[in-house]
Amino acid sequence: MSTAPQRNQPDMTADRDWSQAGFSTRAIHAGQDADAATGAVVTPIYQVSTYKQDGVGGLRGGYEYSRSGNPTRTALEEALAAVEGGAQGFAFSSGLAAEDTLLRAVLRPGDHVVVPDDAYGGTYRLIARVFGPWGIEHTPVNLSDADEVLAAIQPGRTKVVWLETPTNPLLGIADIQAIAGHAQAQGAVLVVDNTFATPYLQRPIELGADVVVHSTTKYIGGHSDVVGGAVVVAHGAQLPVGLQGPTGTTSLADAVGFHQNASGAIAGPFDAWLTLRGLKTLGVRMDRHCANAAAVAEFLERHDKVTQVIYPGLASHEQHAIASKQMSGAGGMISFRTGSAETALAVCSRTRVFTLAESLGGVESLIEHPHRMTHGSVAGTALEVPDDLVRISVGIEDVADLIADLEEALR
Ligand SMILES: *Cc1c(COP(=O)(O)O)cnc(C)c1O
Repeated sequence: MSTAPQRNQPDMTADRDWSQAGFSTRAIHAGQDADAATGAVVTPIYQVSTYKQDGVGGLRGGYEYSRSGNPTRTALEEALAAVEGGAQGFAFSSGLAAEDTLLRAVLRPGDHVVVPDDAYGGTYRLIARVFGPWGIEHTPVNLSDADEVLAAIQPGRTKVVWLETPTNPLLGIADIQAIAGHAQAQGAVLVVDNTFATPYLQRPIELGADVVVHSTTKYIGGHSDVVGGAVVVAHGAQLPVGLQGPTGTTSLADAVGFHQNASGAIAGPFDAWLTLRGLKTLGVRMDRHCANAAAVAEFLERHDKVTQVIYPGLASHEQHAIASKQMSGAGGMISFRTGSAETALAVCSRTRVFTLAESLGGVESLIEHPHRMTHGSVAGTALEVPDDLVRISVGIEDVADLIADLEEALR
């Protein structure tokens, strides 16, 4: 397409500044002014690949080709940046596409990455098995021990410290504030996968992270009907020390924008629209996810067939204090152990309200066996999970029905 190397910054909507507004006001309005052409209250699905130019280079509102920029995607990207408190958002076709683009923007062969020893299996697979052969080394660490994380940083070589908090599936908590600052002082970029907490409950950029990544497939989309991902970059965030970006600056946002356009793993207009639709109700959904999960966690903790319940909102959680400090609610994910793989598999196959399925974060409750399902790809690595573990994504159905369902399945 044209020679313009950078992602467009379209100015089609003379959008007002929502940065001082509350969370849900930002989720509903930021980047989403009424459509300039028609007054449509909801950002339309601009299902279009290219845009008429008023003379060569005479772009209307900055759009020239939908890989580089599309108005529906722009609305989502601006809304995501607003809810995370970041400078710029980028929407991708999946969470892993977002992670891949970010990592390619910040890493070069010979670099080293600190990764969680409990994490989304696909993230680990990407770093170990895709980036590994391109010369990237990684060290898995226990994120709940900030000293262990900092000790794994190799000065001059470690270019990314990757946090996921709460972790998937063991719901470990990393103290973002305790790690931020140290990571950057060593020249590394601090990334937080905020998929489980969502920006409604936790805003890593306010705690010192350089960049947040999401699988918007989960809570932000919220209805199990779209796959997507996002990167949100903090104001002033820089590339790892010594790295000059492809546009000649050291700005992390410039580099991610360049790579988004150059590699092209963008969110399509309809996917962006569905994700934006989900984002508008994130606050009210998370309130119900949190309330339901708290009740389910207490029920499980009292149950004699359950040997351990892992939920950051329970006083029994090892990092309950840190979770309470950096999250405004404990979220909708619970993991519990049953003492044997047989019991775990039986529970997973007996529920009727909880659906046996991978993924999480939708309005409907899901149950799964991480060892055999979501985390099958990390078997035999430092990230292998116990085989008696059950993970549930507590939805927003009536909580009495959820508890009755688990009670029946555990009987
Ligand atoms: C699902 C998930 C991802 C990957 O996202 P996709 O949209 O499936 O590509 C990354 N991180 C976490 C924590 C996830 O749950």
